[in-house]
Amino acid sequence: MIVTCEKCKSRYTLDASRIKDSVFRAECSHCHHIFTVHKTPLHEQSPYLLRPEAKKPAPRQCRVVCVCNQKGGVAKTSTCLNLGGALSQLKKRVLLIDFDVQANLSMLLGYRNVSSFFEALDSGDGELSKAIIKANYNLWLLPSNSRMALASKKYLNQPNFEYLLRKRLGKIKKVFDYIVIDTPPSGDFFTLNALLASDLALIPSQCEYLSMNGVGHIENMIQVIKEKTAHKPDYRILATLYDPKNIAENVIYQKLKSQHKEKMLATTIQRDSKIQESQIAHMPVLFYDKKSLAGQQYLSLAKELFFTDSNKNESLGHQ
Ligand code: ADP
Ligand code: MG
Repeated sequence: MIVTCEKCKSRYTLDASRIKDSVFRAECSHCHHIFTVHKTPLHEQSPYLLRPEAKKPAPRQCRVVCVCNQKGGVAKTSTCLNLGGALSQLKKRVLLIDFDVQANLSMLLGYRNVSSFFEALDSGDGELSKAIIKANYNLWLLPSNSRMALASKKYLNQPNFEYLLRKRLGKIKKVFDYIVIDTPPSGDFFTLNALLASDLALIPSQCEYLSMNGVGHIENMIQVIKEKTAHKPDYRILATLYDPKNIAENVIYQKLKSQHKEKMLATTIQRDSKIQESQIAHMPVLFYDKKSLAGQQYLSLAKELFFTDSNKNESLGHQ
């Protein structure tokens, strides 16, 4: 091959077969200029077809919601199941966590006496994924059972016991869009753990006097968490088992709205026998009867919480 010094234009003959590199440096023995030589002249090289860099999928942003109220019978478990059902119908991957020793959520999905958070935690590596079951409809379940009562006994006196759930959710959050946690009717070990693991607390309340007090208890717990830890969960209140024709319920509903203002959700969940029917069939009401009043109201709830204009970027409840 012929190489021409780019400065003094002296020409040299080289045996190209003895040069392995396709690009190399050469020094002109005449003017001592050092320059780069391409074995195949640049203009003769076939160009590489440049392809745009493949777009990496955005990392999954998992929102963790706990459903809590110290009062029983206010539709916590039903809300957990049916909010999960609505989100799964909106094509989201949803994990339901049954964090109540009564294991009602697990039973509603047809699971009894299967491994729970407690057994997973006790299994050595503490991986929760071992106990997670694929229920239908884009829904997964971390069940509960009566042995869950042992968890509070075993861990209550250990340092940082209140962060047990939060710590274990780290890996799991990467594979779900939403995690919805059902809690017992008390402000104990389980509710505290659930609140500290959640971005948002959803407080169902019947429109009656005693349920209103339950809302106040959870609000106080959230306030204490905000003051004493770096965790700042948000909360919303949901009127459940609501009968708009009942005058007393209407009075309480208006009172809840004026007391809690923007924390009170516009969506209400009315009494609907389809809820009970769907529970017998072990499925969320939306999958049992898509057009049912309760099914449509739980769909509105999911949209109001996560997909309305005011939180189009799905920021509510996400830290
Ligand atoms: P909690 O978990 O707060 O104790 P549940 O979800 O178990 O409450 O609900 C209490 C009872 O109310 C259950 O029998 C359930 O079937 C019923 N229920 C819940 N929501 C509705 C509704 N929208 N319409 C009719 N019954 C309902
Ligand atoms: Mg319950």
